[in-house]
Amino acid sequence: MTEPSFLVQGWCPGALRPMMSGDGLVVRVRPQVGRLMQDQAAGIAAAARAHGNGLIDLSVRGNVQLRGVSEVSHPNLIVDLRTLGLIDADAGDEARRNILVTPFADGTTDALAARLGAALPRMPHLPGKFGFVVDTGAAPVLGGIAGDIRFERATGGGLVIRCEGAPLGAAVTEDEAAQAAVELAQWFVDAGGVTGGRGRMAALIGRGVGPEGHLAGKVAPAPTAPAPAPGLVAKGALVGFAFGQMTAQTLAELAELGPLRITPWRMVLIEGLRAWPDLSGLILRADDPIRRVEACPGAPACLQALAPVRGLASRLAHDVPEGRLLHVSACAKGCAHPGRADLTLVATAEGFDLIRNGSAHDTPDQRALAAATIDLKGLF
Ligand code: SF4
Repeated sequence: MTEPSFLVQGWCPGALRPMMSGDGLVVRVRPQVGRLMQDQAAGIAAAARAHGNGLIDLSVRGNVQLRGVSEVSHPNLIVDLRTLGLIDADAGDEARRNILVTPFADGTTDALAARLGAALPRMPHLPGKFGFVVDTGAAPVLGGIAGDIRFERATGGGLVIRCEGAPLGAAVTEDEAAQAAVELAQWFVDAGGVTGGRGRMAALIGRGVGPEGHLAGKVAPAPTAPAPAPGLVAKGALVGFAFGQMTAQTLAELAELGPLRITPWRMVLIEGLRAWPDLSGLILRADDPIRRVEACPGAPACLQALAPVRGLASRLAHDVPEGRLLHVSACAKGCAHPGRADLTLVATAEGFDLIRNGSAHDTPDQRALAAATIDLKGLF
C-alpha cells in the first residue's frame, strides 16, 4: 500500500490538547449540544483577541477553533474558557465528547444530546475520531456528515439509533437512547472495530457484520434533507462565512443578536432572528459564488501546506457554475473537503495537480499547473 504524502494525525485538536499549526496553536472549543449562549460567544470573541490572533474557524464537526494561540497564552485562554463553562474536566473527557447535534434541535434533541454527553464516561475506550451524530430535529439534515453512531427519526417520528454505514437502525425510547449508544460502542470494540487504536464504524459495517438482538438494524431512518443554505429559517437566521472563518469582531457582533448554534456547514444559526443582520463579513445569499469553493487554511497557516490556497480559490470561485464545487487543497490530505468534488486542485512541490470528480488524494488528470495561469473555463 502506498504511504500517504501527508501526515495523518489520527486525533482532533481540543482546547486542552491543542494542535500546533503554522500560525500557532489551534484550540478547538466543543460547545455543549452545539450551542453557544450569548455570554459564551462574546467571551470566546474576547478570548480570541486576548490570547490568539483574533481568527476563529468553524469546523466541519460543528466546533469553533481559535487560531494563533501561543504556548504562553494557552493557560490563560483555558482559564477564560473554563469560566464560560466551555472546558471539560480533562483532555480525555474532551476527546470523547465528539457529538455533533443538528442546529435545528428541539427540546428532545437537546435533552438527548445532554444525556449522551453524560453517558460518555461509561463508553469503552474509542478511537480519537469516533463520533456521535444527533440528527433528531423535525427533519434530518446531517445525512451528508459522517459519524459512527447516529440518532435519527423514523418516518413515524420515533427515535432510531443506527451504525454509520448500515441502512437500518434500532428503535429506542428517549430513556433508552444513551445506554443504547454505550452498548453499541461496546459492540463496535468487541466486534473488532479498533485496530492499532484506530477504526471507524462504517469500515466495520462494511465487513458485513452488524449488531444483533435489541440493537439489530430493523428500522429505516427518515430521508435526510439537503444541507441548508444561508437564509431565514423557522428557528432564526443562517449566515455563512467564507472558508468558515470569521474575526473575533464578527463573533462579538453576532453574540449581541442571540444564542448561536454552530453548524457543520460553515454557517451559524442565530436563534430567533427574524431579519438579516446588518454586519459585514457574512455570506447571506445562497448563490454567493464563494459557497462553490472549499479551501483549507493553506500556507502559512498550516505546517503541511505546500502553497497558499484561499486567494486562488476566491479568484476561481466566479468561474464555478452554480451547483458545482471546486476544492483547492494545500496538500493531498484534503482537510477542507474529504469527499469528492467536481474539480479538485491540490498543491504539490511542482505546482497544482487537477483532479476531476475525485478527492484530493486521487490520481490527477493534470499535473504541475502554475497557480497564476489556472483557468477553469471548459472544465465543468
Ligand atoms: S489539507 Fe490543508 S489544512 Fe489539511 S494538512 Fe493539508 S495543508 Fe494542512
